[in-house]
Amino acid sequence: MKLDEKSIKSKLGGLRFNTWLIFTLFASAILVMLWFLQLNLLPPYYRAAKIGTVRSIADNVETMVISDQPLSSMYQVARDNSLCIQLADNYGNKSNFNGIGTGCYIDKSLPNNTGDFDYTEMLEKIKESSDGEYNYLIDYGSQMIVYGRLVDAHLGRYILLINSPVTPEKAGLELIQNQFVALTVLVLAFATIASIILARRISRPFITMTKSAKKLAERNFDVSFDAKGIKFNEFEELADSLNYATAELKKVDELRLDLIANVSHDIKTPLTMIMAYTEMIQDFSKDDKNLLLEHLDVISLEAKHLDNLVENMLELSMLQSGTITLELIDFNLNDLANEIIKLFTHKNQEVVFEADNTYIINADRVKIGQVIYNFINNATKYRRHKPIKLKLSQNDNAVRLSVIDDGVGISPEDLDFIWDRYYRIDKNFAREQEGSGLGLSIARGIIIAHNAKYGIVSKENVGSEFYFDINFISILK
Ligand code: ADP
Repeated sequence: MKLDEKSIKSKLGGLRFNTWLIFTLFASAILVMLWFLQLNLLPPYYRAAKIGTVRSIADNVETMVISDQPLSSMYQVARDNSLCIQLADNYGNKSNFNGIGTGCYIDKSLPNNTGDFDYTEMLEKIKESSDGEYNYLIDYGSQMIVYGRLVDAHLGRYILLINSPVTPEKAGLELIQNQFVALTVLVLAFATIASIILARRISRPFITMTKSAKKLAERNFDVSFDAKGIKFNEFEELADSLNYATAELKKVDELRLDLIANVSHDIKTPLTMIMAYTEMIQDFSKDDKNLLLEHLDVISLEAKHLDNLVENMLELSMLQSGTITLELIDFNLNDLANEIIKLFTHKNQEVVFEADNTYIINADRVKIGQVIYNFINNATKYRRHKPIKLKLSQNDNAVRLSVIDDGVGISPEDLDFIWDRYYRIDKNFAREQEGSGLGLSIARGIIIAHNAKYGIVSKENVGSEFYFDINFISILK
């Protein structure tokens, strides 16, 4: 699928829209809950608060009655608190102090009062109550509280009645409503802004990473993936994984190019030689026996080289696919090392052997011999003054076999790749440094198949040590 700018944007548009939607839905849900609570909790809360207020006003009025304060101050209390007060003495004389006008339910003297307030019943209830007071709610146009208590003054006993509207005042309600509308607008605006900021923050690394991925798809392996300063572990992990994958892809691509270059070179060179010498035989040497034999020798050598190359390729692919079978036997590693050394001393290559013990290992003798041969063979190509050293030393439960030379060494950048197939430090295919570039990767495949460890210690212009550690069965004393 092609990822063009437009499709990235439309997908991220989806991300932004969805973030906004989730935020807005979340904020709306909270607002709805708040509304609901407000509508259901406000009236009872208001009612309880009002009863408390009425009770404390009643306390005030009682004090005023007991202390014989002027009636005008009762009016003041009624007006100030928007309620109406009634004081009735034992003789049925009633004084009304009305601070709410016609809405007063207990003031039957009002011309339009249709309320059926039952004075006698109220008195009964107050007398029946344990604390000398009684209140109830009544719907008289709007909700009202009717409160009554007995007041004992020195002039006699009074009944104090207070009537107060309970419904939250309209202005108060409107204020709350307006506040709620403002709150709703603010919360939704905040949700939108927050969602835009968040979506932008989340989408930024996606946009840059998608762009990088696009470049990668166009085979640009120098891209890097960046979480764009987003400190979410997931993004950083994603960026790291993609960077790792890119580095691996780059390596594979370089190897692929190397492979084509090396294989075509390695196969082409002997083939060219074979063709050239065949022509020479046809043209010059077919009648000269000595020259003919010389030319046939070259052809045979080049054919062997080709055969060797193909064999190595096959072996490596079998090692890598895991189809190779090892013939495991117990054998003396010191003996094998000395046998291989002998092959080199026959070619006038001096190899010094050094061992702290005699080790018996369980392994494929031929294949391990192949690895040792490869290590020594490479060392012969690069050694300078000192003879090559083959060393066996104990390393915990394993024996370390090292081949040490005083050659050119390997640079730290090349060290990571040296075991890769077709990897050669010298890329100009010098014919004198013959080799398929497969030796070390085959050696590594064999070592891994034995569950052994391997490594190189090398310093440029000082020398290299190639080693593997393989578990031993026993040490011969
Ligand atoms: P080749 O057949 O080219 O020797 P190898 O896989 O055996 O292939 O080695 C890969 C490369 O590692 C060599 O081309 C060489 O550049 C480097 N190399 C191997 N052994 C040594 C050594 N002892 N000293 C320096 N470089 C080495």
